[in-house]
Amino acid sequence: MHSQKKYTPQFSFEFFPPKTAEGEKKLRVTRDELAKLNPKYFSVTFGAGGSTRQGTIDTVLEIQQAGLSAAPHLSCIGSTKENISKILNLYRENNINRIVALRGDMPSGMQETGEFRYANELVEFIRKESGDHFDIEVAAYPETHPQAHDAQSDLVNFKRKVDAGANSAITQYFYNIDAYFMFLESCEKAGIDLPVIPGIMPITNYTQLARFSDMCGAEIPRWLRKHLQGFGDDRESIKAFGEEVVTRMCEKLLAAGVPGLHFYTMNQSAPSKAIWNNLGIKTSNK
Ligand code: FAD
Repeated sequence: MHSQKKYTPQFSFEFFPPKTAEGEKKLRVTRDELAKLNPKYFSVTFGAGGSTRQGTIDTVLEIQQAGLSAAPHLSCIGSTKENISKILNLYRENNINRIVALRGDMPSGMQETGEFRYANELVEFIRKESGDHFDIEVAAYPETHPQAHDAQSDLVNFKRKVDAGANSAITQYFYNIDAYFMFLESCEKAGIDLPVIPGIMPITNYTQLARFSDMCGAEIPRWLRKHLQGFGDDRESIKAFGEEVVTRMCEKLLAAGVPGLHFYTMNQSAPSKAIWNNLGIKTSNK
């Protein structure tokens, strides 16, 4: 089994920018709860085409102002170089030194009028504009990006982002651990040498998870789907079973020496915290 033992594991949590005042209040509580675990950083998603631009910026700056470390996502599709440049400057002025650089997906109905086609072009642009100021994280797809023709061409495209200057990668979530380890082996064979941090999606709601997974091409294995479907509307059983499955997967990943875990929190603290506590993670990470 492949391992990445040379890296010190880092742990991070992902939020999306809230759309309402109530959501903002809830996110503050979530953030403060998760901050007690001392993660390396909190990342905040960014809607492609700039659809959450201000919400992302506000959320990120609030995290920094609370004395925590924020890593904004930046999606380039539908954006101009001028717009991206302004956002990079704002982040630099606010001592933000980590960015998750993405292509993004255009919201339906929005025209693709931007100056970037793929994430590797964004990574290149960030390096050109800001030198080594930012640590750049990019997305990786152990089960292959849904628009890619095949795994091999997707890997070639992943390498473009690495060669353009990415420091590390975060994966799309998966429940099939072999896909992740196979991906690492393919990376090694292709001369890709950077930490590939597993993205972890806690399971709390089957219908929502199934919908997301269809959209982003993450597979819910048949055995897992059948268990979750069998619980029907019994949310507590879904949560308990989901917690056990994801905890076991994380245990195996950590035992194999993964470079960290990135939790997709969906702006909730309890599911990620439960897994974290089960794993007995002690951070260190600042
Ligand atoms: P790319 O790396 O550009 O790849 C997209 C597709 O194009 C792939 O099929 C790839 O094989 C192909 N490709 C790449 N480069 C080339 C090239 N040079 N020539 C030809 N083909 C190429 N979305 C958001 O909108 N906001 C977010 O905040 C956000 N955060 C995310 C965080 C993580 C950790 C992950 C895993 C995904 C996130 N996404 C987010 C979703 C992501 O934007 C979508 O999966 C999107 O479809 C692809 O983005 P990417 O950066 O991986 O694109």
